[in-house]
Amino acid sequence: MKKHVHIIGGGIGGLFTAALLAKEDYPVTVLERSAHVGGGLQSFTRNGVAFDAGMHVVGGLQPGGSLNRICRHLGILDQLHYRLVDDDCGDEVFCFEDGKTYRIPQGRAAFTAYFQENFPEERENIQRYVDHLFALADQVDFFFLRPGSGTTSGDETFYQPSVQFIADHVQNPKLRHLLAYLSPLAGGEAGYTPAYIFALINYLYISGHSRFEGPAEQLAEALVAKIQELGGEVLPCAEVTSMQMTNGWVQSLTTSDGRTFATDCVVSSIHPQSLLNIADNQLFTKAARNRLASAPNNYSAYCVYVVLKEGTFPYLNHPCYCWDSYDKVWQFGKYKEENWPQNLVYFTPCERNQGTYARALQVIVFSPFSMCERWAYTTLGNRSEDYEAWKKRHTELIINKLEKKMPGFRDCVEAIYEATPLTIRDYFNEPEGALYGLLKDSRNPFAGYLPIRTKAENLFLTGQNVYLHGCCGVPLTAVMTAEAVIGEKDVIVRRL
Ligand SMILES: Cc1cc2nc3c(=O)[nH]c(=O)nc-3n(C[C@H](O)[C@H](O)[C@H](O)COP(=O)(O)OP(=O)(O)OC[C@H]3O[C@@H](n4cnc5c(N)ncnc54)[C@H](O)[C@@H]3O)c2cc1C
Repeated sequence: MKKHVHIIGGGIGGLFTAALLAKEDYPVTVLERSAHVGGGLQSFTRNGVAFDAGMHVVGGLQPGGSLNRICRHLGILDQLHYRLVDDDCGDEVFCFEDGKTYRIPQGRAAFTAYFQENFPEERENIQRYVDHLFALADQVDFFFLRPGSGTTSGDETFYQPSVQFIADHVQNPKLRHLLAYLSPLAGGEAGYTPAYIFALINYLYISGHSRFEGPAEQLAEALVAKIQELGGEVLPCAEVTSMQMTNGWVQSLTTSDGRTFATDCVVSSIHPQSLLNIADNQLFTKAARNRLASAPNNYSAYCVYVVLKEGTFPYLNHPCYCWDSYDKVWQFGKYKEENWPQNLVYFTPCERNQGTYARALQVIVFSPFSMCERWAYTTLGNRSEDYEAWKKRHTELIINKLEKKMPGFRDCVEAIYEATPLTIRDYFNEPEGALYGLLKDSRNPFAGYLPIRTKAENLFLTGQNVYLHGCCGVPLTAVMTAEAVIGEKDVIVRRL
């Protein structure tokens, strides 16, 4: 009989790890605090229109991509409905500073040629930059699911700040900023984000990203069905509140409703600062506990969900980035109400049988948690009037910006809803509503990562704080974690 694995957290990391282990005949039980499993894959409906809470663009789902290979291995690929963004415009960047729009094509060659045409004087530099970017990504073996891999390492530019990496290749300041347009998807902060994280995210999105047709929760549903088909169980409303250990071995987990689960093995897929709250004192030394508790998190976001009047606004098959000025592309960790928002991204979620017109538009303004820190003590459904007024003002600022970019936009709006960093914190149980967990800091590269193994021999970690975040990065980590639980390197990778 194989050991029974209990997984804390039914988000992307927890579900993928559980499905991979269940496929290897391990009995698994996923414990999810929320009534809805899926974490970042959750969707919700307003005015009969579906919105995604935390998954809008997906890398690695194209044929041959890492996520595609993992889903195929699990036998869930043909249950997913998705489409690639357009070849000739995978992303659009607009800047108010000079009113220019850049329609950036998909694919390494087209991407390179596009920037070379726009900046002919930097032709050679752009070629060198793209080559180096892809070479940097190529140094990360686990990203490509190559046997024999598992750790991250690389040349002297690997942990260099991304801003410096770009500046070392191209001269034109405008080009430097444009080449960084994907920085918010990498959790990018000037001086902090290591070049290899930036390279991996660029690799994913330049190679071709996808969007789900219909809500992103379809991936969570497919994973849950697969886990159950393989004999595992997924329990919603099961918030783990404590962990009992003896002699460095986790014996059991207890949930907020008083249930106790005796266990052979545990995988934690929650934020490590949340794990601190439930972990037995034996798990961390005092110094490690203090270090982890004070580790900085990545920024959060202010999100606006717009229900559009039918037949008024076209469906856009790519995200649109909208900047006040070029030089704000790394400025997400700072906030001042008087000049907010300076930089946002909007997109129209794709429905099943998507027609010419969109029913929904989603906006994300990447912003620090500090913007709503003064209400940090409040909880969902229990906020104050001044918070509601603050929200109303901020949503209005965003709609004004969209109206400025697309005159007449207001007339397309049927209803508006929003989520703040506080909402994200409470919805995902994510400290400071951090989009991608702990801050990845090129000056202290190992502070933003956790190893899969812990001090307890039967406790393993997975999720976005181990290796890489996002819909592709987290399943990749799940493969590594599942292999660590099995205790056999490459046992899954070789089958993908
Ligand atoms: C607004 C937003 C937009 C994003 N957009 C994108 C995007 O377009 N593309 C992309 O690739 N990535 C995107 N991301 C990032 C992506 O969502 C995350 O990287 C991913 O969800 C992390 O997966 P995870 O499994 O580590 O954590 P999660 O998916 O957050 O899962 C953690 C789970 O653990 C549960 N949990 C927490 N504490 C406990 C406990 N004590 N007991 C039991 N369960 C618990 C939570 O409820 C949650 O379900 C976005 C994130 C946000 C917030």
